[in-house]
Amino acid sequence: MRVYADNAATTKMSRASIEAMNDAVENCWGNPSSLHSIGQHAAERLQKAREDIAEVLGCSPKEIYFTSGGSEADNQAIISAARIGERKGKKHIVSTAFEHHAVLHTLKKLEKEGFEIDLLDVKNNANITPEQVKNAIRDDTCLVTVMYANNEVGSILPIAEIGKICREKGVIFHTDAVQAAGHLHINVADECIDMLSLSAHKFHGPKGVGVLYARKGIPLTVLIEGGAQERGKRAGTENLPAIIGMAAALKEANENLDANAAKMTKLRDKLIDGLSKIPHSALNGTRENRLPGNVNFLFEGIEGESLLLLLDDRGICASSGSACTSGSLDPSHVLLAIGRPHEIAHGSLRLSLSEWNTEEEIDYMLEQIPQVVTYLRNMSPLWREKVSGEKEFEI
Ligand SMILES: *Cc1c(COP(=O)(O)O)cnc(C)c1O
Repeated sequence: MRVYADNAATTKMSRASIEAMNDAVENCWGNPSSLHSIGQHAAERLQKAREDIAEVLGCSPKEIYFTSGGSEADNQAIISAARIGERKGKKHIVSTAFEHHAVLHTLKKLEKEGFEIDLLDVKNNANITPEQVKNAIRDDTCLVTVMYANNEVGSILPIAEIGKICREKGVIFHTDAVQAAGHLHINVADECIDMLSLSAHKFHGPKGVGVLYARKGIPLTVLIEGGAQERGKRAGTENLPAIIGMAAALKEANENLDANAAKMTKLRDKLIDGLSKIPHSALNGTRENRLPGNVNFLFEGIEGESLLLLLDDRGICASSGSACTSGSLDPSHVLLAIGRPHEIAHGSLRLSLSEWNTEEEIDYMLEQIPQVVTYLRNMSPLWREKVSGEKEFEI
C-alpha cells in the first residue's frame, strides 16, 4: 500500500485543476497585455480567475495580486507594511514564534534594518490569545502578522478576534493563510484582514502560483520591477495556466469544504487515538482548534528522520517537521516554540491528510507506525537507559 500523508508540504493536483490548466496551456496562451483578440481572450480569462478567487475570499477582484506563491506573497505583504510604517516613524512589528520561514526570515531582514520585532509566545496550547496581540501593540506598531493556521502542528489561530483588535487600533493586519485557504472558511471583510497570502499547491492546485490579497488603500511595495502587470505592483507576464488552475482548485475546494473537513476530521481523530496508544508519545499541538488534516506526534527515544525513511520503505510518505527544514540538524523551530525540549523534539512525525485519504490507509498507518517506532527504540542505547531507569523519560 502507498499512502500520501504529506499534504501540508504539497498536494496532488485535482482533476478539475489539471483540466483547467491544460485547457489554458493549449487554448489560452496569449499575453493578457496584448491588445489583439488572442491577448484579450487571455485577459478575460485572467479577469475571470481573479473574480473567482475574490469571491471565495470575500473581497473585490481589484484587491487580488497574483504572485509566484505563498513565500512571495508573505514577503511583499510584510515589506509593504514595513515601508508604510517607516514613513510614519513606526518601526515595531508583532508576529508569532511559529510562523513559516517566509515570514520569519523577512522579519529578520527588517530587524537588521532597525525594526523591532515582537514574536508572541506559543507555548500555551500551541497558540496565541487575542489578548497577547492586544498587549503587544504599541503606538509605533506598523504591522501585526499572524498565520491563520500552523503548517506543522495544525493550530488554527483566533484570526477574527485579532483582526478586530488591529482594526480598532489602526494597525495593518496580515495573515499567512497558506494552510487555511481551501480548508477553512475565510472572509477577509468579516475577519478584518488587511492582507492575506495563499498558495495554490496546498489545495490541489499547481505549484509556483499564489495570491496576495491587499485591502483597497494599502499601498504595496513593488518587489519585482518591470511591466505594469498586476496594476503595477508585480511585474512579469502572468502565469496564466497556473492562475487558471489555481482558481479552479480553490473554487472546488471551497465548494466541498465542509464535507471534506468532516471526512478528514474523522480520519485525523482515528489516527490520533491510535497513535496515542504508543507509550511515551504525545500529540504536538492540541485537539481543539486543529486543522482537519493535521496529525503531529512526538515519540520519545527515536529520530524523526530514521522513522521517515523506514516508513517510506513501507509506502508511507510523511514528514518530520516542515519540508523546508529537512536537511538541517536543528529540530523544527515550531516544535521548540511550542515548548518541546530540544533533546526529544527530533522524534516528531507529521502526517497531513487530504480528503483523498481513506480509512484503509489510516488502518495501515496504525499497523505500521507502532512497529517501526518499536524497532527504532530497540536499537537506541538512550531508549534502553530510559527503560532500565538509568535516565528519566521526558514524556
Ligand atoms: C507552504 C507554506 C508557505 C510557502 O508557500 P509557497 O507557495 O511554497 O512559497 C508559506 N506559509 C505556510 C504556512 C506554508 O505552509
